[in-house]
Amino acid sequence: MRHFGQPMAAQRTFYLTTPIYYVNAAPHLGHAYTTIIADAMCRYRRLAGDRVYFLTGTDEHGDKIAQAAAGAGEAPQAYADRIASAFRETWNRLGISYDDFIRTTEERHKRVVQAILARLYEAGEIYFGKYGGNYCFGCERFYTDKELVDGKCPDHQTAPTFIKEQNYFFRMGRYQDWLVRYIDERPDLIRPERYRNEVLGFLREPLEDLCISRPRSRLQWGIPLPFDDRYVTYVWFDALINYVSALGQPGEPRRETFWPHAQHLIGKDILKPHGVYWPCMLKAAGIPVYRRLNVHGYWSLGGGKMSKSIGNVVEALALTDTYGHDAFRYFLLREMTFGLDASFSEEALVGRLNADLANDLGNLVSRVTTLIVNVASGVLPAPGPETPQEALVGAALEKTRAEVHAAMEEFAFQRALAAIWEFIGVVNRYVDGTTPWVLARDPARKDRLDTVLYTLGESLRCLSLLLAAFLPNTSLKIRQIIGLGEAPMTLADLTWGKLAPGASVRKAPALFPRVEEKKAVPAESRKAGADRGRVTVADFSKVDLRVAEIVAAEPVSKSRKLLKLTVKVGAEQRIMVAGIAEQYDPAGLVGKKVIVVANLEPATLMGIQSNGMILAASEGGTLSLLTLDRDLPPGSPVK
Ligand SMILES: [Zn+2]
Repeated sequence: MRHFGQPMAAQRTFYLTTPIYYVNAAPHLGHAYTTIIADAMCRYRRLAGDRVYFLTGTDEHGDKIAQAAAGAGEAPQAYADRIASAFRETWNRLGISYDDFIRTTEERHKRVVQAILARLYEAGEIYFGKYGGNYCFGCERFYTDKELVDGKCPDHQTAPTFIKEQNYFFRMGRYQDWLVRYIDERPDLIRPERYRNEVLGFLREPLEDLCISRPRSRLQWGIPLPFDDRYVTYVWFDALINYVSALGQPGEPRRETFWPHAQHLIGKDILKPHGVYWPCMLKAAGIPVYRRLNVHGYWSLGGGKMSKSIGNVVEALALTDTYGHDAFRYFLLREMTFGLDASFSEEALVGRLNADLANDLGNLVSRVTTLIVNVASGVLPAPGPETPQEALVGAALEKTRAEVHAAMEEFAFQRALAAIWEFIGVVNRYVDGTTPWVLARDPARKDRLDTVLYTLGESLRCLSLLLAAFLPNTSLKIRQIIGLGEAPMTLADLTWGKLAPGASVRKAPALFPRVEEKKAVPAESRKAGADRGRVTVADFSKVDLRVAEIVAAEPVSKSRKLLKLTVKVGAEQRIMVAGIAEQYDPAGLVGKKVIVVANLEPATLMGIQSNGMILAASEGGTLSLLTLDRDLPPGSPVK
């Protein structure tokens, strides 16, 4: 077996935050998604040996909390205590490995907020002024006429109330040019790129000063301004500061260690406060700006955005209880291309569970362990001489390790999992290709059998490591089955040949029992066959289907759905326009082999001539490109 060198990277420091969740409602799928991907990222970085601090928490001030508390007949603090502990309990049940949970009603937070306010006030960054404007009580903010849609709040579809009052303002406008330059100079500050462009888009409009106070006569539930106790702090100004207040005051070791490496993870609905207000606040307060803002898209259920104010919310916990935490995590991480929207359905979750988890992964673990128990009495043999078949598995591991690493640098969880599933495919084909059950019948081939069994056992060990950040429970189960138990692990152990021969292997209970797909067959597939009319082989052969390689992909301007793809069909390159922009990240498509209709009449879409059609399957809002399960050159015919 070839041994692959593992360059030991220097230890890095990583500070990742989720938004602090507003306690006016219980945790839902949107919260669970952000928190689960943050958890997978932090687990991965810890496995890589990095120094990690993972912060989550709750946002507990403002009108909406005061109203929700009044509605529940509770004092605001008692109400916030109750909901905050519901969040904490949810994350504990989901096995979220947070290091800290900050609440904006904690003293440690208030101290830092007031220190920053005092500093800004003394520096002349905050002034007292009169303001009249359209105020949405739901959003707790003023809207400019331009931001209103048909005179209504775009989020709440209610008419704002005109309020004229004296307030304190942060001189945010003076940071506009600075911020544009700052973002221009740092292509990685806001990722994926579409959100960077969106922030630069906001900054093409004049940036106004930010009203940062609310009069106490109207709102009691907030942090008093240190320089005028007739006012409390605007909830966004208060909330954003949690990312530094959780680390303590400047000079404290945790603050000095982690703040220079701060990365935020947010949903796209809160891009403006994080992409515009927060860097200006930090700059004005003399605190370095965060390193990176990572922005994800929405989950939709039947079309609408899933949010606390809209109502079509899936109870996250109910689904994890039904299908298991790992299956739920796997679905969320695998189904959404980071940064883009995805649609959530129980059927799609069950589909992934059956195909990827029960079939590909679960069957592999069960086949391998059953073999080792049946033909080697559950003791992993020492390998005999290796052949090119083993070298292929080792090479596949190395490729997967590198792809997972590259994907995780970009928060591309779906690509990391796809790479791991490629490795699972290689090992499954290795079992088929080496036929150990046949080898076991011939005592003369014991050496060969030993090599195959060792390779399989070692593959499971490597899989347990690859999966640890994404499916922690499954990873642990696999390690227990191959006799490793809860021994500590690191990514540095992801080198071939580390599993000692002699390890005792147990038969595995099914890791992911298949779930009956109770749902009726979708209308689209029912139409298949007779109802759609039959075609002859001669008719079908008129369609020239070919393998094509995507060599470039870019968004089509002014279109949310279309991507312009340059594909290689044989020696020839062509442009094809495909309606896949909402489901596929252009960068992730390059290098993919797809199936195209090569002899389609050209068509012009958004001014671009499209020469051919890329095939994709779709059901509900989910779309999946047809790809190859073995590599073939572009131009290969499909029959
Ligand atoms: Zn509103």
